[in-house]
Order: sequence, then structure tokens, then C-alpha cells
Amino acid sequence: MKTIDDLDVAGKRVLVRADLNVPLDGATITDDGRIRASVPTIRTLAERGARVVVTAHLGRPKGEPNPAYSLAPVAARLGELLGRPVAFATDTVGDSARATVASLGDGDVALLENVRFNAAETSKDDAERGLFADALASLADLYVGDGFGAVHRKHASVYDVALKLPHAAGQLIAAELDVLKRLTEKVERPYAVVLGGSKVSDKLGVIDNLLDKADRILIGGGMVFTFLAAQGREVGTSLLEKDQLDTVRDYLRRAEENGVEFVLPVDIVAAAAFAADAEHSVVAADAIPADRMGLDIGPDSGELFAAKLSDARTVFWNGPMGVFEMAPYAGGTRAVAQALVDSDAFTVVGGGDSAAAVRTLGFDENAFGHISTGGGASLEYLEGKTLPGLDALEG
Ligand code: ADP
Ligand code: MG
Repeated sequence: MKTIDDLDVAGKRVLVRADLNVPLDGATITDDGRIRASVPTIRTLAERGARVVVTAHLGRPKGEPNPAYSLAPVAARLGELLGRPVAFATDTVGDSARATVASLGDGDVALLENVRFNAAETSKDDAERGLFADALASLADLYVGDGFGAVHRKHASVYDVALKLPHAAGQLIAAELDVLKRLTEKVERPYAVVLGGSKVSDKLGVIDNLLDKADRILIGGGMVFTFLAAQGREVGTSLLEKDQLDTVRDYLRRAEENGVEFVLPVDIVAAAAFAADAEHSVVAADAIPADRMGLDIGPDSGELFAAKLSDARTVFWNGPMGVFEMAPYAGGTRAVAQALVDSDAFTVVGGGDSAAAVRTLGFDENAFGHISTGGGASLEYLEGKTLPGLDALEG
């Protein structure tokens, strides 16, 4: 895979697919992590005299313009972080985009409006995506893929346009790939994986794949209850995916065969309702009352998990241990984050909510080996799937 070092960019129009999909509260960016992660590539290209044209998506605007998903606030923030103005085109491939690109001098930067305002961007129809990719390609001489959080999507700006222009991977994608290789091809053992979050079915593929790669798999979050139920335990009104019970039983059996240690919580914070002010208490994992829901792993589990992580050389964590957005149920997530901070292992945090949890709970990002900008993309890579946006950058 070529990197931007392999491209001669001076005086050229370079289309950069970035991941600028940040959380917004109205027009206020509540976490600019992904914009900051996109800066190095854009800055490097601009400093080398490229005319940088950035394309990105924000949210899911359903294929039509919608001011609630405009990238305009992102253009302003990107300009602040770059310390140079960012011209903003009010469409993606229309009159505004063409005029904005034509007005760029060497070293200038422009951002095009939300690429998902165009239905063709995410179309399942190759020809429709291809036509839209032609329009994007006509704005540039070279293509740089750097939107790691979107590389698992076969979208026009991620995949098709890369095939139409000389291309290379940006610095963010290169950095994320280096990390993923440290989790797969050259993993240092013991390798522990902590999985949480809300849906088992989202993470089954990765568990399946890790059963012959990880040494230890620790389970927290809403997924726990499908595992406990699979062992015949009462889980009350907790999240439960009944249709996954057989699959989960099969995983537990395979883990035993493969000598992979599955670590499940020993205690649970069980609440009367899904609310911060609901009555709640810590109960043993095999004694969840029928009318209670588990919203976090308990303190003994936090200690157990920390102990299971203490001698690891590599840790990958995806998915909060509980409903960390509500203070009474943030303890398990905090305990795991602290265990990663205290560990000498190479630690990787993947997943939008997990990364947000680490930051909102006040941890220093630099205390982790790597905080990935792409949860879905990282998981699909670890599942062993082919990612279209990486595939297109090969060759
Ligand atoms: P990520 O974005 O890091 O991949 P997910 O999207 O899979 O993580 O899951 C995050 C969500 O899981 C959080 O909003 C959190 O509140 C929720 N969650 C964690 N534990 C539980 C639980 N026991 N019951 C319900 N929701 C939970
Ligand atoms: Mg999430």
C-alpha cells in the first residue's frame, strides 16, 4: 500500500477522504477527536504544496441535503486546528464544489459538504456509485484515503473513487493499520480482549475470530447477560438476546477446547429501572433478582478484570462495561480504563462509545497505547474481513 510519501503532490489537486464524523449538539462539536486525527495528513499535503480537497460524511442524512448534518461547523474547527483557513463548498460535486476547488492555490485546503447528502454515495448499485465517483474524481488529480472510521463501507468516496485516481493511504490509516497488525500478525502475549457494549450480535463475529487468537476474553456490558443466561442463570430484566444463546454456548465450549480463558463478571449492579436515580444494588452474578436489570459489572468484577489484565502484554478493549453515561453505572468502565492505564501492555481502545467513555471519565488519552477512531472498522478487521476502503488502496 502506497503512502502519501510516495506521491508527488506539489501543485496537484488531492482529494482526501477523511473521517470527520463527530458528535454535534446543534452546531457545537462535543468531541473533536476525529477532526484532530485527520489533521496530520491534511497539514502534510498542504505543506507540500498540494491543493487539498477534503471529502467526508457526518451522521446519516439519508441521501439528501439536511442542514442538521452540515459539515460547516467542522470546516471552521478544522481551520482552527490547521491554523489556516478552510474554504467550504456548500455542495459535494456541484457548482459550489467546482468553484471552490478552482479557487484553491497551492497549499490551500477546502472541505466539501457532507458526501452523504448524495444518495449515490451509499448506493448498493455499483453503476450509480461509479457515476458519483466519476464526479468526485473530476475534482482532483490524486486520491488519498484517510477516513479509517469508514473503510469498512463500500461507498463511492471510500472505495470507487480510489479506483479512478492514482491513490495512497493517509497517515491516519497507516497508523491504524500498524496498530491492527500489532493485534494480529505480531501480537505480544498474553493477549487479552475486553468486550462490552450493548449488543452481543454486533460483536459475535469478532469473538468467533478471537477464539483461536486471544489468550483471555473478558466480557462485560449488556452482552454479559446472554452469556450468563447461556450458563442457565437468571438475568432478570437485563438485556438478553435469546436467539444468540446457542451461539454463545458454542463459544464457551470452543474456548474451553482451545484453552482460551473466558472471564465473566462475578457481581452485577442491578437496578429497578434504566435510570440514574433508580434503586440499585450490587448482587452476585448468579443471584440477579427477576425484577432487576444489570446495568454495570460490580466492584469485585472490576477487581477481577483488573487482575486478569495485569500480566497481559497486549490488550484490546471494545465496548463499555456498563451504562457509563449514568454515574451509578460507570464504575466497571472506570475500573477497566484504569487497569489499562496501569498496565505495561500495549493497550488499544476501539469503538466510538468506548473512546468517548475514556474521555468523559477524565482519563488522559496519552495513557493508552492507541485510541482508535474506528470501532466498526477495527472490529471488522479483527474479524478477518476484507475492508473495501483498504482494498481499494492496495495496488
Ligand atoms: P462502542 O461504541 O464502544 O463499540 P457499543 O456501541 O457497542 O460500544 O455500546 C455502547 C453502549 O452500551 C453504551 O451506550 C452503554 O450505555 C451501553 N451498555 C453498556 N452496558 C450496558 C448494559 N448492561 N445494559 C444496557 N446498555 C449497556
Ligand atoms: Mg457505539
